[in-house]
Order: sequence, then structure tokens, then C-alpha cells
Amino acid sequence: MEQVCNKKECTGCGLCANLCDFIQMREDTTGFFRPVIDQRKCIDCGKCVKNCPAVHPYNQFHPRPLDVLAAWNKNEEVLHESSSGGAFSAFAEALLETGGVVFGAAFDSKFHLRHIAVTQKEGLAALRKSKYVQSEIGLSYRQAKDFLESGKEVLFTGTPCQIVALNRFLKKKYENLYTADVICYGVPSSGHLKRYIAWLSAKLNKEITAFQMRNKEKGWGQHPLIIFKDGSKKFLRGIDNAFIYSYYNALSIQTACNECPYMTCKRSSDITIGDFWKLGEKEPFPYKTSQGISLLLVNSPQGQKLLKRSENNLKWIPRTLEEALIGQSRLRNVKREPWKTKKQEIIQQEYCREKDYTVLAKKYFYKKKLAKILSTILPQSILYRYHDYINRLQTKIKIIFQKKSN
Ligand SMILES: Cc1cc2nc3c(=O)[nH]c(=O)nc-3n(C[C@H](O)[C@H](O)[C@H](O)COP(=O)(O)OP(=O)(O)OC[C@H]3O[C@@H](n4cnc5c(N)ncnc54)[C@H](O)[C@@H]3O)c2cc1C
Ligand code: SF4
Ligand code: SF4
Ligand code: SF4
Repeated sequence: MEQVCNKKECTGCGLCANLCDFIQMREDTTGFFRPVIDQRKCIDCGKCVKNCPAVHPYNQFHPRPLDVLAAWNKNEEVLHESSSGGAFSAFAEALLETGGVVFGAAFDSKFHLRHIAVTQKEGLAALRKSKYVQSEIGLSYRQAKDFLESGKEVLFTGTPCQIVALNRFLKKKYENLYTADVICYGVPSSGHLKRYIAWLSAKLNKEITAFQMRNKEKGWGQHPLIIFKDGSKKFLRGIDNAFIYSYYNALSIQTACNECPYMTCKRSSDITIGDFWKLGEKEPFPYKTSQGISLLLVNSPQGQKLLKRSENNLKWIPRTLEEALIGQSRLRNVKREPWKTKKQEIIQQEYCREKDYTVLAKKYFYKKKLAKILSTILPQSILYRYHDYINRLQTKIKIIFQKKSN
């Protein structure tokens, strides 16, 4: 077998590598995890292709949410440490209290994000917070199956494509399995993040030990913060914020995420977690939202069971699906425009060629002054489309002014 699926459609879910020992997930030249088949050992059985969700789409979704809730963690500290309302931690604690296992994404000391299994409450801190980067799934699906078969309760959390992959890997329903997926905007590559951290660390001449993509000191929202080895902190702005800028503008995201098939309210997980953006705009919301509120889609009776078990740690009130959808294009199946895919492909090609991250950051991942002024007049879509032209125009204007002043 040459390849499992078309590279552009691969989500990096890692299902094929969990199914076959002759496949390994490795970072490719763009830094995304993609399957590599050991051609000497492959026996051409076709199992990997038959199960790949990018080739044979998954279709066993829960048709619509049973409950739509605004939820927040009762523990103020946990709420502060979480990206949204801290619903994940409430679910995880409920399971750990009765001897269960929780799977989620954690950074190691080198900013490599991978899925790990946690059995103690102290381990949850590493899983907390959104990390907007592809997580290496490793052999987590196999591990989860081993726990389930041994009778342990498992909470498996991840992106929707990871939960689909887990469900397809397991093939049957387990009473002791709970799954939670996030509403998902897409993922940049792991290689990109590590390159960015190395660049920023060298630029600021300080070792970076933590990167919080959404710190809450300034409230619930998008406030990226880095922490240095000496304990000092810095909120990221301008060119220093290149990674998050490239993410929110969908410039560094893998192409498979543009037409992701999991952007609707039909879910494969028991519970879906996101931010309840725009909460209160349609119907007044009587509680404070400054530290974040989770949007929960409870998709199955198993999800309702998990919610009930979390009631000591979580408070929630019902809201309407209509309200939930207002701030969630990633539930409304809004596909990205084709020019954005083209732009991502150009950036990825340059990412492989260009050794100097400053060049990439200046060219693509940072809004120049002229673009800032134009952004008050022009729509964002036009701005990002003509980003390169605006940059070049600004450089030309600068040169003209420099010549004049000489
Ligand atoms: C890549 C990504 C894109 C997202 N896009 C949106 C969006 O468009 N709209 C929206 O409303 N919400 C989005 N979210 C979800 C949101 O940011 C919060 O993660 C979610 O609401 C859970 O928040 P919490 O406060 O309950 O828990 P937190 O403690 O903040 O979240 C921790 C949970 O997120 C999981 N997680 C963190 N990073 C990753 C990762 N890279 N891969 C897999 N799992 C991960 C952990 O395993 C854990 O389950 C996204 C999350 C991720 C990871
Ligand atoms: S199973 Fe997942 S990782 Fe493997 S080729 Fe398909 S999409 Fe890519
Ligand atoms: S064809 Fe069979 S042996 Fe070859 S990589 Fe795929 S699953 Fe493995
Ligand atoms: S957008 Fe879709 S394909 Fe991309 S990481 Fe999220 S769930 Fe997976």
C-alpha cells in the first residue's frame, strides 16, 4: 500500500497506525503528523484504507443534541485555569473519583503535544486549557480499549476527528466509555508550534517554559501569554503573537480542517464542549460570564449520565440551540472559502523552504500598520486575500519615504 488516503484529506487522527503495526505517524515537512507505511512489511490487506474516515466517511452520529446548556465549574480556581467554563475538569474529576481513566492532550517540556492517560486528580492540570495544535494520538485508542476491556471507566476527550477514530477503532459500544469532543476550528502543525517557540525564545533571549494560548487574567477571551524560566510572563502582541495570529486567521491550519465533516450538531461524542460565545445577546443571562462559560451539547443518554455525575462540580442552565449557534460557525457547517485553502497551501510550501521564521512571520503571520488601517474600512476576507500585496505596498511606501528624507 502506497498511502492510506490523500495527504490533503488526512486529518492525522492516527486510526490507521492504531490498526496496523506497519504504520507509524511521523511529522512531515510541514510539521503535521501523517502515516508512513513500512513498505517492506505491508501485506496489502487494505484494512487501513477500509477504516480511514477520510476515505470511507463515518456515519454513526447522534442526530441532534438532547440538551443544550450553558455550564461553568463551581471551583473558581479550576474555572480560571480552564479555557472556557471548565466543564472538562468537572467531567474528568467525576470519573477519577471512582477510579476511572481520563484521556486528553498535554504538552511535554519541549512543547510536543500528545494524548496521555491520567488516573489521578493532580494529573488533570496538564490536560486543562485549549492547545491550538495537532495532538499526537500515539496508541491511545489501543490503550483505551485495554482499559475498557479490563472494566475501567474511561473518559476520552479530543477533537471530533479523534473521537470518530476512537469509535471506529472500538467497533462496539462500551457502557464504561464516555466521550467528549470540542467544537473545532482546526489545528496547526506540531512542528510549526515548536519552531515558533524556538524562534520567540531566541528573539526575546529567554527560555520559554509555558505557552497559555488563552490566559484569563484579562478575562474570558483570547489573551495568549508566555511564561519564562525565570518566572516572568508576557502577553503576546504584534509579531511576537505570530502563531496565534496565523491560527485565528486560519493560515496555518491543515487543509483537511477546511471542509471538516464534523462541523454540525450531529456528533459522534456523548458530549460536545465549546465556548458559549454571544451568550446573553438574545436572552439575558443572569450569571457573571467574565471567567468563561462552556457551551455543552449533550448528545446521548451516556452524556446525560456523565453530566449528572458531575453535578457536585458543575453548574448549568438550559439554553436554546438557536442561541448556541449564533456564535458558532463551526457548528453551522460554514466551509472556508477556496482562496483560503490556496493560501494555506502557498504558506505550507514556503514554510518548508524558508529557514528563517522571521521572514514567514513578517510576510504572513502579522498584520502591518497599513493593513490595520485598511481593516477599519475593508472586510477581513478581502484583507487576508490581498495580505501579500498590502505588505509589499507598505514596503514600497516606506522605501519612497526613506529616499525622500535622504
Ligand atoms: C484545536 C481546538 C479548536 C477549538 N475550536 C473551538 C471553536 O472554534 N469554538 C469553540 O467554541 N470552542 C473551540 N474549542 C474548544 C474550547 O477552546 C475549549 O477547549 C473547550 O470549550 C473546553 O474548555 P473547558 O473550559 O471545558 O476545558 P479546558 O480545560 O480548557 O480544555 C481541556 C480539554 O481540551 C482538550 N484539548 C486541548 N487541546 C487539545 C488538542 N489540541 N487536541 C485535542 N484535545 C485538546 C483536552 O484534552 C481537554 O479535554 C477548540 C479546542 C481545540 C483544542
Ligand atoms: S486513518 Fe486518519 S491518520 Fe490514517 S490516513 Fe486516514 S485520516 Fe489520516
Ligand atoms: S494494507 Fe494492511 S498491512 Fe498494509 S499498511 Fe494497510 S493495514 Fe497495514
Ligand atoms: S477541524 Fe475537523 S479535521 Fe480538523 S482537527 Fe478539528 S475535527 Fe479534526
